Amino acid sequence: MSVGDGGHGVTGMTPPSGTHAHCEDLAERIERFLDGEMDASEARELDGHLDDCLPCTSERDLRARLRELIREGCAEQAPADLVERVRARLQEVSAGVEQDDDRG
Ligand SMILES: [Zn+2]
Repeated sequence: MSVGDGGHGVTGMTPPSGTHAHCEDLAERIERFLDGEMDASEARELDGHLDDCLPCTSERDLRARLRELIREGCAEQAPADLVERVRARLQEVSAGVEQDDDRG
């Protein structure tokens, strides 16, 4: 027996290119998944793809972390008190926008 041939016969199928054709569409799905607006069946389908696709998995993790950061950041930067004042200010502006204050 000689070990020089090395012909295993792994031909006929094209190698995976890394990303799937529907990976771009998946970004939107991930958003809906994080929003909790996705059906259980669709969520499982997405989960199955994430289990098989590393780029999409990292994308999901990235978006999930981003959301957490935004939520925490917004909560600190925009307290309810400030939001109320901004809303009151907006009402003032929208109410007085018709008045043509001519001074000079
Ligand atoms: Zn993918």
